[in-house]
Amino acid sequence: PPDVEALGRSTWTFLHTMSASYPPQASPTQQNEMRQFLGLFSRLYPCWTCAEDFQEWMKVPGNEPRVSSRSEFGKWMCEAHNEVNRKLGKEVFECERWEERWRTGWGD
Ligand code: FAD
Repeated sequence: PPDVEALGRSTWTFLHTMSASYPPQASPTQQNEMRQFLGLFSRLYPCWTCAEDFQEWMKVPGNEPRVSSRSEFGKWMCEAHNEVNRKLGKEVFECERWEERWRTGWGD
């Protein structure tokens, strides 16, 4: 079976890095592509219980992917990650600071 922790750490790096590289203002095409990606990701992620919970969370009104801009998408991804943090009893991350962790920190 996959190592759910190592897979998770790598995947969050990938997902937050995707939001850090997302355009400041996304075109309709870019927004559609990201929605499609997230829909497929949430079905194909190879930790099936993780994938199922993530899919269910995304369907709850208010939790649908916000993909209009880097800022919105980055915060949404942080909230998604925090949902998993809560479920696992981990510390919740301060989403105002997601860019420091995943984007502007790149300069160091
Ligand atoms: P991680 O949670 O992997 O975080 C890595 C780094 O991201 C942290 O060190 C911190 O610097 C930063 N970070 C933390 N929170 C945030 C945030 N909110 N926003 C931005 N940056 C942040 N594991 C399970 O056991 N059960 C599950 O159901 C489950 N579901 C998952 C669903 C998804 C979609 C993903 C990607 C992973 C899931 N995992 C699940 C794995 C779990 O989230 C962790 O990745 C794993 O437990 C390792 O945790 P960690 O403490 O090393 O830090």
